[in-house]
Amino acid sequence: MKSSVVLKQREARTLRREGWKKADLHVHTWNSYDVLRVPSMSPKSLLRKARRKLDFVSFTDHDNMDAYDEVNGKGLVSGVELEVLDEKRVGHTVHMNIYGLDKELFRELKAMAEDEKNIYKIIGKVKKNNLQYVYNHPFWFKDDESFNPHKMLKLAEKFPVLEYNTTMIKPVNELVLWAAKEKGKGIIANTDTHIGSMGTTHTLSQGDTFKEFFNNVKRRKSYIVPRDMNKNLMLREIMQRIDHFFNPEKDPAKDYRTGINERLDKTINFFSTTRFRKLPFVDGALRMAFKKAASRSGRFINKHLESQGRLVEDIKKKLRIEKN
Ligand SMILES: [Zn+2]
Ligand SMILES: [Zn+2]
Repeated sequence: MKSSVVLKQREARTLRREGWKKADLHVHTWNSYDVLRVPSMSPKSLLRKARRKLDFVSFTDHDNMDAYDEVNGKGLVSGVELEVLDEKRVGHTVHMNIYGLDKELFRELKAMAEDEKNIYKIIGKVKKNNLQYVYNHPFWFKDDESFNPHKMLKLAEKFPVLEYNTTMIKPVNELVLWAAKEKGKGIIANTDTHIGSMGTTHTLSQGDTFKEFFNNVKRRKSYIVPRDMNKNLMLREIMQRIDHFFNPEKDPAKDYRTGINERLDKTINFFSTTRFRKLPFVDGALRMAFKKAASRSGRFINKHLESQGRLVEDIKKKLRIEKN
């Protein structure tokens, strides 16, 4: 599937020299439950890093805006990744990024998500407050849920912009491009990084302020430079997370979830709570063992990627059935 919105790195650099702005608007800090508390993942160090490569960045932690107690200032767009499970109207969990909000409004939206569980009502409130918002990784849902592409497409109509997301494989992201074209929506490409690799995927558009930038994205006057999930990238991410886990400044009290594999999470949490962790020798040996195991087996990585591939086939089949 060819798309006119996708640029090569080289073409993107030319546009940027001509004044186009570069953004990664989906970044997790140590305030997310699935990020360990290591110094490189603090909002402060992430913002310092982001300013070297991006014009706009947003720290969108899961259901909290604590990052904004730690940082603010130029180029940083306030944001949050809100989780909504609207069983009645959608049937599976949805993640949406909301930008430009303050903590008070966030608390109201979070309460709506928890109590009323009506995503259409939440979107209405976000819209009334003139905020920018995005349907994150629209083909994602939780492991124990079932996905209804028809309901997803209906919901996508209510969003101005859909997200191309680096945690998904290319065929899934190509479906997002297809859906955006079909529904006349803007496309944004984000890393959704949990290890601080900001900007490796990004969006280019014009505008001196974030509002102008986002308005141009809405009007499809923008480009993306995307990267998709694959075996190598996933392995690199796991290695990085293993390093984070063994970092001495990590917070062992926090229940840690990689979001990749439940058994891996259980193992990591088990070791983090046992006395073994306190012995430096065991610590080094464990780190090596984890890395060896991760690089050698690769089986659950394949399983994870294959399940995304199957999802695409399933969705295509279901949507074709509707068209015929
Ligand atoms: Zn998400
Ligand atoms: Zn995210």
